[in-house]
Amino acid sequence: MTDQPQARALPTDGIVAVVGAGTMGAGIAQVAAAAGHRVLLADARGEAALAGRDRIQTGLHARVAKGKITAEDCERLLERIEAVSDLDHLSAAGLVIEAIFEDLEAKQALFSKLEGIVAQDAILATNTSSVSVTAIASVLTHPGRLVGMHFFNPAPVMKLVEVVTGLQTRADVAELIYATAGAWKKKPVHAKSTPGFIVNRVARPYYAEALRVVEEGAASPEQVDMLLARGAGFRMGPFRLMDLIGNDVNYAVTQSTFKAYFGDPRYRPALLQGELVAAGRLGRKTGHGFYDYSQAEVDEPAVEAAPLRDAVDVSGDTGPIAGLLARLDSAGAELRTGKPTGPAVIRYGRATLMMTDGLPATLRADGPGRGLVVFDLADEYAAVSDLAIATQDGADDAVRCDAVALFAGIGIRAHVLDDVPGLIVARTLAMLANEAAEALLAGIGTAQGIDDAMHFGVNYPRGPLEWADRIGARYFVDVLDGLQASYGDVRYRTSVKLRRVARSGVKFRNN
Ligand code: NAD
Repeated sequence: MTDQPQARALPTDGIVAVVGAGTMGAGIAQVAAAAGHRVLLADARGEAALAGRDRIQTGLHARVAKGKITAEDCERLLERIEAVSDLDHLSAAGLVIEAIFEDLEAKQALFSKLEGIVAQDAILATNTSSVSVTAIASVLTHPGRLVGMHFFNPAPVMKLVEVVTGLQTRADVAELIYATAGAWKKKPVHAKSTPGFIVNRVARPYYAEALRVVEEGAASPEQVDMLLARGAGFRMGPFRLMDLIGNDVNYAVTQSTFKAYFGDPRYRPALLQGELVAAGRLGRKTGHGFYDYSQAEVDEPAVEAAPLRDAVDVSGDTGPIAGLLARLDSAGAELRTGKPTGPAVIRYGRATLMMTDGLPATLRADGPGRGLVVFDLADEYAAVSDLAIATQDGADDAVRCDAVALFAGIGIRAHVLDDVPGLIVARTLAMLANEAAEALLAGIGTAQGIDDAMHFGVNYPRGPLEWADRIGARYFVDVLDGLQASYGDVRYRTSVKLRRVARSGVKFRNN
């Protein structure tokens, strides 16, 4: 399995049938028609296929009004989509894509019926998000021709298509669907049929760690969202995203993943989210989730740089925080450098600052009541505007004030959190990289495919394995070990793949 196009796509004169004309089916029909195919749209409810076509028409007319497509292209595209009332009309289809309810038995029954209608060389694809492709195919006479073709919502907009191979899926079938998705201007990635495929599995820690930090009272949803956006470049923080997806939907996916992986604590659902669901606070669709959508968003003003009054002592391996030192230098700080060995340490006034290694400051400090402050990882220290910090328990207020002043001196707003292990960005990125490494180890995708899936499926600014290569797998292993030592929870066990990459120095994206 590679993520390079190798096979020929379905020819444009091949007829595509889409069964299930709901949210996804209508979107997929539009994508196939836009690529030049004749499309037959069917639904168990006769009126639903027509309604699906009408929704496509309304959406396309809006695009014409905005000047995004021409009226002629719109009409030609619509002419290619035909709503049909009966599955028997699908006999000429070369590819049938199923987008019906998420139910194994319903999908098995549909494909069994389709096998009696379409030609023997027609390909059958399912858009399932969570049902096993292997299980769906198990009832078929020719299980090798069934493949997952997992689009993301809204299908005409989202680039990613996971091409999901079940145990019996023929390689040529998966390759043809991969090439077809590419010809339809999508970004295909190969994935193995396992719970959550790539995206819905690798994304779990993004929600789980955020929920745990908030459950512990260390930070608010607003703080977590802002720190991940500004510290790592995520377009949407986990709490706004859960509210957008719907807490009921997100909670159900987490529960089914947890069950499917036999109760692995990495996927453990959060009681906090369960409570929100129980209260009907489902997110945007109910007007209230983690956020109350009747309230206007408040934007914090940028922090104003305040001059640094004392010298700054720096020692240890400062490579990982070179961006911070460059900022101190340009702010005119008097920088005094010490021994270059061991982890980087910055001393300013009463504060001794270190980058988080997954341990809370209190467990890392060399004595009670001293001045240790840990600060969070940032994707780019040279440009970051907001950073989480935590002081050890019992530290004087002066320690916190000096740490905040140091960061203010270089235009960074320090958010003082409770002394939570791994803070926000380090903890989230380490857990995402760990999950991606586990998926890679299990052969669910290639390193490039896993990263592409997260970038094109959920808009991550980088893939988790690219982050490991860039920031250092060694650092993520340290953070995970620190988290596990702090919590004693096997949820933070480090993937052997991540450890191997950390030890060998070979990068994920080169192997
Ligand atoms: P939906 O409820 O909007 O539409 C499902 C449609 O299928 C309905 O119109 C229904 O009448 C029809 N249907 C049900 N049983 C049928 C049958 N036996 N034969 C023919 N038609 C039948 O659902 P959706 O959100 O479009 O999801 C469809 C599939 O796509 C599911 O497998 C889902 O997991 C998957 N999916 C959904 C999303 C999403 O965000 N909604 C994203 C990716 C994948």
